[in-house]
Amino acid sequence: MGVSKVLISEVGPRDGLQNCGSVMPFQEKMRWIRALASAGLREIEVGSFVSPKVLPQMADTADVVVEARKIDGLEIAVLVPNLKGAELAVKAGAAKITLPLSVSETHSLRNIRQTHDQVIAQAVAIVAMLKDLPVGQRPYFEGSLSTAFGCTIEGPIPERQILRLAERLLDAGCDEIGLSDTTGYGDPHSVRHLIRAVRGVIGDDKVTGVHLHNTRGLGLANALAAYDEGISTFDSSLGGLGGCPTAPGASGNIVTEDLVFMFESMGIDTGVDLDALIACREILAGAMPEEELYGFVPRAGLPLGFKGAPVPVAVE
Ligand code: ZN
Repeated sequence: MGVSKVLISEVGPRDGLQNCGSVMPFQEKMRWIRALASAGLREIEVGSFVSPKVLPQMADTADVVVEARKIDGLEIAVLVPNLKGAELAVKAGAAKITLPLSVSETHSLRNIRQTHDQVIAQAVAIVAMLKDLPVGQRPYFEGSLSTAFGCTIEGPIPERQILRLAERLLDAGCDEIGLSDTTGYGDPHSVRHLIRAVRGVIGDDKVTGVHLHNTRGLGLANALAAYDEGISTFDSSLGGLGGCPTAPGASGNIVTEDLVFMFESMGIDTGVDLDALIACREILAGAMPEEELYGFVPRAGLPLGFKGAPVPVAVE
């Protein structure tokens, strides 16, 4: 059975924007991030420290982190492909850094030009760098297994290989291991199965989050399957921003608005105000008019009399 409260980690400013054709201007990005935080999102992945030549959409990530840190109570997460990125993330003051390790080595080479051994070596170097920091300044370090449910180049990846990579990331010193359905190949059964298998090897408390895409329309079903397995952190993006150039009509990440609606309808607290969240779409649509925004709830509206989950009362 799942938990009574979940953490929605908004990844639109990173996963969404990096898949957009144009670059969102800094001021618009900040307006959007501030609005997302005011809607109640407590963790936002605001960018990634990759080469601006490869991803010009992410060129201002350091400035975004510095500015977003001024928002009260917001956890600032970033993606880093290597030690250099992690150093920049620490310098900017990110609270959480995620290193992607694609379980498909071909994808890893195409995506961040590193073999599995090279990514693990980066993880080891990042942990050594973090250990030298004063405890209060040490960001949380997640290793994320991308293409965990299949790869567009290699197809299904042997489970043995996935479990071994999870172990190696944990041995390298990652605080936890995330599971990413980068390609939208997962289904509720495979999601349940892989969560159990990875937890079986590295421990339940080391797998608490999933990163799902809605490429084939199974995003919410997969999120619910993960929730039933006890997963408590869910990545999603406003409007399912991002899409996929090779899958027309398919949204990118699962749509934050629909995901929040599902949980709140079930009485599971997300801390998010749905009306305020849906209003954030206007900022996004204004800044990125050529991008298609997805989501059923924003189009249909909230059901009459919808209240959402009761807000838990703090116990003194
Ligand atoms: Zn993704």
